[in-house]
Amino acid sequence: MKVIDQIYINGSFVKPHGNQFMDLINPLNQEIFGKVALADEKDTQLAIQAAKTAFKSFSKTTVAERVSYLEKMHQAVSKRKQDLIDVMVYEFGGPVQFSTAVIQNGLDAIQASITALKDFKFVSTVGTSQVRMESLGVVGIITPWNASNMFIVSKLSSAIAAGCTVVIKPSEMSAMQTQIIAESLHEAGLPAGVFNILNGLGTVVGQELSTNKDVSKISFTGSTVVGKAIAVHAVETMKRVTLELGGKSAAILLDDVNFNEAIPLALFGGLMSGGQVCTAGTRILIPENRLEEVKQIIKETIPTMKVGNPSDQDTAIGPLVSKKQYLRVQEYIQLGIDEGAELVVGGLGQPEGMESGNFVKPTVFAGVTNDMRIAQEEIFGPVLVLITYKIEEEAIAIANDSIYGLAGYVFAKDVEKGREIAAQIDAGHISVNGLKHDPLAPFGGFKQSGIGREFGAFGMSAYLEPKTILV
Ligand code: NAD
Repeated sequence: MKVIDQIYINGSFVKPHGNQFMDLINPLNQEIFGKVALADEKDTQLAIQAAKTAFKSFSKTTVAERVSYLEKMHQAVSKRKQDLIDVMVYEFGGPVQFSTAVIQNGLDAIQASITALKDFKFVSTVGTSQVRMESLGVVGIITPWNASNMFIVSKLSSAIAAGCTVVIKPSEMSAMQTQIIAESLHEAGLPAGVFNILNGLGTVVGQELSTNKDVSKISFTGSTVVGKAIAVHAVETMKRVTLELGGKSAAILLDDVNFNEAIPLALFGGLMSGGQVCTAGTRILIPENRLEEVKQIIKETIPTMKVGNPSDQDTAIGPLVSKKQYLRVQEYIQLGIDEGAELVVGGLGQPEGMESGNFVKPTVFAGVTNDMRIAQEEIFGPVLVLITYKIEEEAIAIANDSIYGLAGYVFAKDVEKGREIAAQIDAGHISVNGLKHDPLAPFGGFKQSGIGREFGAFGMSAYLEPKTILV
């Protein structure tokens, strides 16, 4: 039984004041494998105080000093790369290939912060004034369970580049992953108090961070409903917020594309990590006259996507993170049936022989209109909807008919045409002909998918406040 009973405050691992524990449950077999001690408000206040004290000197460090800290951080995290992958596979149930890519994305984000910091203009002349970009202060970082350590290192590296100090509250369901990242960041030898890490509940630690007057900014990744609650609290003390929230992204397949290549890619993009990915392309938009052909390709492709043990190299879809998430996804599959959609593949219940874990059958619905709840609400499981369109303008209108605007996908034979369509989608991150990632480019959502951008120079700017000096 693994017991995680320490939090990280002011450069040291310490026992929390909070005396509650939470069970850690293996998504593969439902076994309780450990427990985590939960920090409380008092622990959070101590961590904020440590970050506040550290801010005084850390905000005055030079670019060269902060580059050196980020390089040490990159080295320290790289050293534990395999441990970070292994623990993500075990605790979250992320397939090993997916988890490997996610940890690499985290490392690339640190590198992108180094590049951005080296090139950043902290002082410039605007009009007749001097404009100085100043570190914001203490930042509360709150992250979800689906790529926990990637979010921690990407947000932390932007904050460090900007000279801010932080208190990190990862998902309480990611405690083992948090332990490894805390150990590796400790190894990096950053000054005490620059980063503090608390295991704890959102309603306790997250709430204290969102309301405490000494926190200047919250950088949050998670659900839209929690993001809204954080924004409401934050406004009381005028905290800056970066909110990376939910999505219901569309993948538009144009008529000229090779469907035998594009459909498997679109399925992969929608189903990877069991659909527990904010950018998943969960609405697949196809020309009306190609429906039967597409359904056939889906029926042939899905059985080739292995649902199984996340540590197997060939597993495409592992178990969902929790029983709660499994039940929520089952409710949505039932809802799709009740709404009159047609099951192309999948359906209720678990794949045969996989009853012990939180496994869901990869499910694709046809006969879906965009006003159905299964087309509008984020399911966060391996459930996709096929929606038909007659002309490209209609496809764009359907893609944009959503409260969300996080990502989008366009598959087109003519890349320029794909770019043209991408430019008309109201979302922050659109890939043409594949699933692309650029750690230097801004990432974030339109509409209710969030506020602000992360990564590279855009991400770093969100931790700075412009100050104009007129002489
Ligand atoms: P969640 O919103 O339930 O929890 C996220 C974090 O917020 C956790 O650490 C949680 O403890 C904390 N929290 C909960 N209540 C809180 C409160 N009242 N005050 C402060 N903090 C609180 O999300 P989740 O279930 O962990 O993750 C899944 C969601 O995250 C999905 O909606 C997904 O789309 C979203 N997500 C978005 C992105 C993005 O980049 N846009 C990336 C990954 C996940």
